[in-house]
Amino acid sequence: MSDHYERVKIELQQMKEVKNEAAADGVQLSPASVSLVPADVSFTARRDQSKSNINGRSRSKSRSKGDGHERQVNGKQLPELTPQKSDYSQGQSRVSNEPTLHIKGTARLLKGKTAANGHVETDVKCEHHGKEAKKRRAVTVDTSKAKTSLEALKMSIRQLKWKEFPIGRRTACDIYWHGVSFHDNENIISGQVNKFPGMIEMLRKINLSRAVRTMQELFPEEYNFYPRSWILPEEYQLFSSQIRLLKDNDSTLKHTFIVKPDSGSQGDGIYLIREPADLRVISGSQIKQAVVQEYIQKPLLIDKLKFDIRLYVLVRSLEPLEIYIAKEGLSRFCTEPYQEPSQKNLSHVFMHLTNYSLNVHSGNFVHSDSCSTGSKRTFSSVLYRLASKGVDIKKVWSDIIALVIKTVIALVPELKVYYQADIPLGKPGPTCFQILGFDILLMKNLKPVLLEVNANPSMRIEHEQEVSPGVFEYVPSPVDEEVKVGVIRDTLRLMDPAQRKQHVTSSTGGGSPEEAIVVETGSDEKEGLADSLPSLCLKQVFPKYTKQFNYLRVVERIATIFLRFLGVKGTMRLGPTSFRTFIRNCKLSSSSFSMASVDILYIDITRRWAGMLPDSKEAGMCLQAFTAAFFYLAARRFKALPLREQVLLLLEVCEGALEGQSHSEKPRPHRSHTNPASSQSSAPTTFSSPALTRRRHRPQQLSAKANTEN
Ligand code: ADP
Repeated sequence: MSDHYERVKIELQQMKEVKNEAAADGVQLSPASVSLVPADVSFTARRDQSKSNINGRSRSKSRSKGDGHERQVNGKQLPELTPQKSDYSQGQSRVSNEPTLHIKGTARLLKGKTAANGHVETDVKCEHHGKEAKKRRAVTVDTSKAKTSLEALKMSIRQLKWKEFPIGRRTACDIYWHGVSFHDNENIISGQVNKFPGMIEMLRKINLSRAVRTMQELFPEEYNFYPRSWILPEEYQLFSSQIRLLKDNDSTLKHTFIVKPDSGSQGDGIYLIREPADLRVISGSQIKQAVVQEYIQKPLLIDKLKFDIRLYVLVRSLEPLEIYIAKEGLSRFCTEPYQEPSQKNLSHVFMHLTNYSLNVHSGNFVHSDSCSTGSKRTFSSVLYRLASKGVDIKKVWSDIIALVIKTVIALVPELKVYYQADIPLGKPGPTCFQILGFDILLMKNLKPVLLEVNANPSMRIEHEQEVSPGVFEYVPSPVDEEVKVGVIRDTLRLMDPAQRKQHVTSSTGGGSPEEAIVVETGSDEKEGLADSLPSLCLKQVFPKYTKQFNYLRVVERIATIFLRFLGVKGTMRLGPTSFRTFIRNCKLSSSSFSMASVDILYIDITRRWAGMLPDSKEAGMCLQAFTAAFFYLAARRFKALPLREQVLLLLEVCEGALEGQSHSEKPRPHRSHTNPASSQSSAPTTFSSPALTRRRHRPQQLSAKANTEN
């Protein structure tokens, strides 16, 4: 972004704030000027920007991704233009049932006090539909790092009548909205941030595959929604030999594999192969870090086209675990009729890859104002279409909910380690939440398959369109706006500090744990939110379905033990002494398993994992390696049982030993969780690490601690 453009943007924001401050001070302005809708000049600036970028090629260079991530290279954000207000959003939301949110008419500003930074804190008393709304301070949101989600975020904040700080604020805000990572704004010590530390790392293709694979080892049936994957380069030999075996068994079977670079997004660098020998190499014949995955050959087609589903999932808290799924999502369509892969069509990206960012460049891409036609549609329109053909869409939806919950359960253990490393106990920090983008494919038999999870799903509500040959412009996208503004607005509503406080102290946040997964057709959330807003589009699925899924949280229990022995603040790796202490305290050594063997085990496993995580600079045993060691110890001790039972038995041994010690060290809270809010939903641990136990005494801070786009 040019400096000039940035300056213009800041000036415009300041002009807007002067207006807002004047309003808050009770200065009489015309209703139009009190409006929270940004000034027209903002649009002019943006229009100028889009005009000055009419060269198709340079335009697409600065393009951010469509429905993938914020564009990143090696985890870094590439520079891009921050969208400003566009004409369609000048107070005229396309979401039909959204009220216009100008402070005018019956709303009266009661008092304003000047905050340290000169901004005006307002206590606004609104009389809505003749009823006096509860008097409360407007929630403050720092949007200075929101990047491409800015447009949708601004709309959401306006609809909620909250207060935006577009260039940040010297004093703390209630909510910080980051475009890329937890670290976009450093030194946040309070409030809530819309990112967890470590989420980007966890959702890189290799790490996601590893996390799911660990769960597959324990629960193969439950985790069969993720295609068989091999991690390259370390599993190249394994991949080659397994494919050879498959072919030897049945030479008529034609398998296809999809190769995905580890840090790729938007379909970048993805290709299909049929033979291990077709893997592309880089200089020095070194295979790039990538995941090679079984290609789903028989996807469900609509109008002969392959499509995938982008679903938005809110992880509202890690401890207790709270997950929401947006009832509405997007379906992204290929632009060339699908055929099963053959040597001839392997390179047809418009046939095999559903990425918006690729297909938008096909001549066949259909932009549509309707949500049920075109190359990008709402997911509900696809469900209606399927229902009209007799498909049991309730089953499809409940399978998708199960897939989402299981995937988040696979991610949580390591996220907790990242969290504790980033915001060690005792250090003030914010609470965290995050919107994730789940990419799901429906197979012909309607089984959902997880393709990937995006830590930064695009929240852009405009799309790029070729307005004349070679000339691209961003134009409003009604489908994106419909879906994404709802997701952001409702996320904010759920994170409203007042709402959250009430939620944590007075409820477990969910329905009966016995409840089966039910598809709700109505919108009956009883969150006590303003009558004037549309009903919540986010549906809570956890802890609502705790009973069905809690048994899967086995690795989380291993992580709790790991965290207890991690000890040193700010680290994610266990040293050899701590590993020895773990063995000793859990009474795992014996005459046949001496401490010398323990040291050898530590060295072996740590070295193996160091080779698998070449980028890591930290020495020691990571959680994945500790989990591998735990599995080994379980298998050694409880021979002849299935792995899952071995691990569960060893967990009981360890938790029992540690709990005994905790009791003898000093009085501890009861085993069950002391935080009323977490009684149903917290990890099914029978033993708590000191850190997590202490957090449970501080419900607000708990989420902050454990809760360390697009
Ligand atoms: P990226 O992050 O680069 O978008 P994805 O994993 O989402 O990578 O893959 C890109 C596209 O490739 C998906 O949107 C989907 O259309 C297709 N795809 C990915 N994995 C598979 C698979 N295992 N089988 C069939 N198609 C797949």
